Amino acid sequence: MLKINGVSRRFGDVTALSEVSLEIRQGEFFALLGPSGCGKTTLLRILAGFEFPDEGSVTLDGENLLSQPAHRRPINLMFQSYALFPHMTVAKNIAYGLEREKVSRSEVRRRVEEVLEKVGLSAMAGRRPHQLSGGQRQRVALARAIVKRPRLLLLDEPLSALDKKVRAEMQLELKRLQNEVGITFVVVTHDQEEAMSLADRIAVFSAGRVEQVDAPVELYERPATRFVADFVGANNLFEGQVAAGGLAADGLGVLPGAPDLPAGTPALLAVRPERIRLIEATEVTDEAEQLKVVDGGVLRGEAVDVSFYGGISHVSVRVEGHPVPVLVATQGATKVRAGSSVALSWAEPDGVL
Ligand code: ATP
Repeated sequence: MLKINGVSRRFGDVTALSEVSLEIRQGEFFALLGPSGCGKTTLLRILAGFEFPDEGSVTLDGENLLSQPAHRRPINLMFQSYALFPHMTVAKNIAYGLEREKVSRSEVRRRVEEVLEKVGLSAMAGRRPHQLSGGQRQRVALARAIVKRPRLLLLDEPLSALDKKVRAEMQLELKRLQNEVGITFVVVTHDQEEAMSLADRIAVFSAGRVEQVDAPVELYERPATRFVADFVGANNLFEGQVAAGGLAADGLGVLPGAPDLPAGTPALLAVRPERIRLIEATEVTDEAEQLKVVDGGVLRGEAVDVSFYGGISHVSVRVEGHPVPVLVATQGATKVRAGSSVALSWAEPDGVL
């Protein structure tokens, strides 16, 4: 439905977008994900008509989008700040765009009622924005954005102003609503969890380029580049060369893995935190020996630093003089303290790049 072909945009010395090509399907919930400054907002602004590319083309339903002025495009934008009119009621805020288009009064009323029901705010039609919670204001903004039935809705960091709990609720709500209204959504976010939970497919951006486009699970399980493995997967990455039975990493010996590549090829082994088994091994215990048999390999060392961050913990393990930072599932690391002797292993790596 939407084809972005070889789009580049430079601002002086800064290349905000470099030959970006993407195809977005009808009815899809699509996320543009990347760190600050990677160009995702510039792409959104190009789609909305507030910015133009130096090169490349964009078509929507086969028609050249770039030749249409912003207000003619069948596209709506929902901003980070909801920009609701404070002096107008919820119903008036939602009706505003339709009234400007000279839609008949009865039709406006019907469509406002319909959309209020969809977002669960029928009872709030007469309130003003300051009488609503953050989550409710978010719903009004969404209702206003979809009431004109755009072909495409662009959402710029839609949930970043909400606190964590409300954000989790709104994520589910947005997904449900998108499904129900069937409008194609393109969301910009720097939050990988948000992109993963919302989108059908994600384009991961780094420095103006698309690194990978895939479904969330694919990105997580089969990252195509080091950047994606790092940004999306919170992976442990080990550098080395392919050797018999795994990867020969500098100073760490052969780490378990089965890369399908010729011996000697430089490679990067990615292991997700939850795949790593970390045990306390004061001596060479049976358990550590068992890990070796079961998982095919084991790294031993001393934990020099342990920090818990919710479900995931950072443990710095000194292995033969090298500090090796590892991310592990907290569940397996609660007994480990700085100074503990530890053994860690994994059954299979998540990928070799
Ligand atoms: P953020 O999440 O911080 O908004 P982003 O990924 O959306 O970041 P963009 O806003 O698209 O990034 O910016 C990409 C790059 O282009 C940045 O280096 C930015 O400073 C630069 N840039 C964007 N707009 C302009 C402009 N109008 N003039 C000059 N430089 C710009």
